[in-house]
Amino acid sequence: MPDIWSEALHELEPRLDKQTFDMWLRPIRLSGVEGDLLELHAPNRFLKEWFETHYLDLALDELEARHERRFAVKIEVVEDLELPARDADERANGRAAAAQVEPTPAPRREYAPAPAPALRRQPQPPVGLHPRYRFGTFIKGACNELAASAAMAAADEPGTRFNPLFIYGGVGLGKTHLLHGVGHELHRKDPSMRIVLLSAEQFMNEFVTAVRNNEFDEFRTRYRRDCDCLLIDDVQFIAGRDRTMDEFFHVFNALYESGKQIVVTADRVPADMAGMEERLTSRLNWGLVADVQAPDLETRIAIVQAKAERDGIPLRSDVALAIAELVPSNVRELEGALLRITAFAELRGAAIDAEFVRAVLGKGVAGERSPLTIDTIQKAVAGFYSVRISDLKGKRRHRGISRPRMIAMYLCRQLTKASFPEIGMRFGGKDHSTVINACKRIEALQADDDDLRSAVESLRDQLNAA
Ligand code: ADP
Ligand code: MG
Repeated sequence: MPDIWSEALHELEPRLDKQTFDMWLRPIRLSGVEGDLLELHAPNRFLKEWFETHYLDLALDELEARHERRFAVKIEVVEDLELPARDADERANGRAAAAQVEPTPAPRREYAPAPAPALRRQPQPPVGLHPRYRFGTFIKGACNELAASAAMAAADEPGTRFNPLFIYGGVGLGKTHLLHGVGHELHRKDPSMRIVLLSAEQFMNEFVTAVRNNEFDEFRTRYRRDCDCLLIDDVQFIAGRDRTMDEFFHVFNALYESGKQIVVTADRVPADMAGMEERLTSRLNWGLVADVQAPDLETRIAIVQAKAERDGIPLRSDVALAIAELVPSNVRELEGALLRITAFAELRGAAIDAEFVRAVLGKGVAGERSPLTIDTIQKAVAGFYSVRISDLKGKRRHRGISRPRMIAMYLCRQLTKASFPEIGMRFGGKDHSTVINACKRIEALQADDDDLRSAVESLRDQLNAA
């Protein structure tokens, strides 16, 4: 049986070019496992260090994706490692290890450090790409369509149409996933492309370290010259950090002027980032600004089904619906819910049906504050104005009803993560534009209608205290 390390390598192999894989990953062998610690052997120090700085994270991410936990590694240099089998197909055929490997003594030359110029010319696979965050595993829906399409277009024709591409939205809605998707796709199409992907926080740390260690020239080369595409996650992090913002500004200009693609994610639009320099926010607005919103019910169902399929969990459609209904907010929570359900099902040997899902997810949230639902808001507003819930969902335009209806829609938008289309659906199948108008209307009316404002405020307080 292949060990967990070989399995992970086997998975990584098709994603890297053959030369890279044979040179830097294949020679690393597992020598032992102790809990979460993998003990690895490398044939020489140079290979060990190169592997650690360039491919270790990739391998750890792959292991984490497969085993749902983070491993640590200890790499030892063991000079006379035998070469592992070269023929992956043979391995796949499951022949006995002894039969596959003609124990050839490792020709040392093969792993000796290549001369520096040759190395520089070698394509550098991007470091830190999450193995699972690819376009192929991203589910598009109304909530993220613009951002996803723009990300794909940016990867298709980098530096041309959407530059910079700025993706923003709440937590767990797929921003990082799309950012890595761009990296994967660019690398797939052109392995020689120098893709730099990191969080704004890492950018700051590297910058600070470079300044402290007098390595600013290297830093500048890495980001301004040796970079064909810059992917920066959570840029809001550098707001208010003047020197980092300043440096990022120069990096941005250098890359932008030479037509390099820049993709940036953040939790809000550029204008709302307090402490962000104006010259930077204006540049972030130059290209396309696209949002990701909380997934509507249909997208949530599609996501649950896709994740279950990926993990080989058979899931009936009524079960997927039950999960999607019970977890209304973000995709990360949706993944967590699916994990909890399968874990419980395995523990109890129970079949996964809608009833089981309700029992597990119902219990799981007890103790935590459960998020406000559209139902709760409708009930509260109906009670407050003494109208029926069916009126809120109905079509009557009488002011005594349309006002509470608009307020309820507005509160749903404010207090839940539901999207406009979803709110519309839950108010008797209304169009999303009706909901948008209602929200705008209530917002505008509150400015000079004190009664309305205090009604909305007391409803909000009542709901928040519930
Ligand atoms: P963010 O960066 O917006 O906080 P992430 O990109 O980290 O969110 O997404 C959280 C989790 O949800 C990840 O595991 C990601 O793969 C998954 N995810 C988010 N949106 C989608 C989607 N539309 N389709 C598939 N998976 C998604
Ligand atoms: Mg993120």
